[in-house]
Amino acid sequence: MILPPGSKLGVLGGGQLGKMFAVAAARLGYKVVVYTPDSGSPASQVAAETIVADFSDEAALAKFVESVSAVTIEFENIPVDTIRYLERRTRVFPGSSALEVAQDRGVEKSTLASFGLPVTPFKAISSQSDIRDAFEEGSFSTAILKTARLGYDGKGQRTVTGLEEGEHAFIELGEVPCVLEKRIALQREVSVVVARNESDDVVIMGPFENAHSNGILDLTSYPASISDNLRSQVTEISKSVAQKLNYEGVLCVEFFISDSGEVLINEIAPRPHNSGHLTIEGFHSSQFEQQVRVMAGLPLGSGESSVQAAVMANLLGEVWNNGKLKLEVLEQYPNVALHLYGKEDPRAGRKMGHLTVVGDDLAVLSEKLVELRVKLAG
Ligand code: ADP
Ligand code: MG
Repeated sequence: MILPPGSKLGVLGGGQLGKMFAVAAARLGYKVVVYTPDSGSPASQVAAETIVADFSDEAALAKFVESVSAVTIEFENIPVDTIRYLERRTRVFPGSSALEVAQDRGVEKSTLASFGLPVTPFKAISSQSDIRDAFEEGSFSTAILKTARLGYDGKGQRTVTGLEEGEHAFIELGEVPCVLEKRIALQREVSVVVARNESDDVVIMGPFENAHSNGILDLTSYPASISDNLRSQVTEISKSVAQKLNYEGVLCVEFFISDSGEVLINEIAPRPHNSGHLTIEGFHSSQFEQQVRVMAGLPLGSGESSVQAAVMANLLGEVWNNGKLKLEVLEQYPNVALHLYGKEDPRAGRKMGHLTVVGDDLAVLSEKLVELRVKLAG
């Protein structure tokens, strides 16, 4: 069934991903109701309605679910109980079982491994003795200890080179459940965005090539400069992830490609992803439009790009000099798309906006964006 235009779509979370979802929904004639604990959120600035309430507020959730025809998320750490409550009353994309897997790095890795998919070697850690066992077994020399839950943008991670550092890092991270992962010598990082609907139609977007700085995505380029063989491996794996999780909605699979050319899944994000932002200008249907299409029961859009090359550069809080961007420099870059999320406080490391440029020469495009970013800082 296709939801008639004018229907309301609900989104849990009010960040930039919700904002770009709401813009895509509006373009297709749908109205968006944002549900978020925060007032003045980026998504609420463009949504038809906003409900400001906690994710555990049943009265508010009841009102929300009554007003919408389907629900999606823009933030992966929505309590699973909230999704279960909603899913008894309407269709939710993705559902609670897929979300539950993606919320816990340990569960995520063991689930993907049980599907026969390649993940970074890891060990679940819940006590100091687990750390000792991991290092005594000798399976790790340099490793990364990551909290199993709630990490993002490199937060909740420590690189450790031996038992003593491992023990110390576990204390620093609050002795919460963690995973200890082998540190991979990276050749490249790439990601793939997948849209899948109830009828098992699957559309793949990417792979995108990602460069990080301090654990935070810095630049994304399309196409990724990898061999056809690697391209088909990451595409097939991403499709399997969506199908095996019986995933309905948009998801992103982040990959490591090791120095020796091995493909490993790093993690999955149960929503559109920062590395897919360039699909807004560079693809026939953006990742956000695909999210709307899945929810509304519309046929999925093409996963093809409409350009030869595209680059996206994130604008973190540090680009704001004295709280300001030097916007007049845009005059020299009339073909660059600027996205500002509408957040007030430009803290260092906070994602405030991004730039996208499309064209035909990747090297020229990325140079241009990096140059513009420097000038925007003044
Ligand atoms: P987040 O949830 O913060 O995105 P990730 O696990 O994706 O966490 O880690 C962020 C970045 O840190 C990765 O994109 C990669 O650049 C680096 N990183 C994380 N784990 C490893 C690893 N096992 N080996 C090498 N680099 C890693
Ligand atoms: Mg990541």
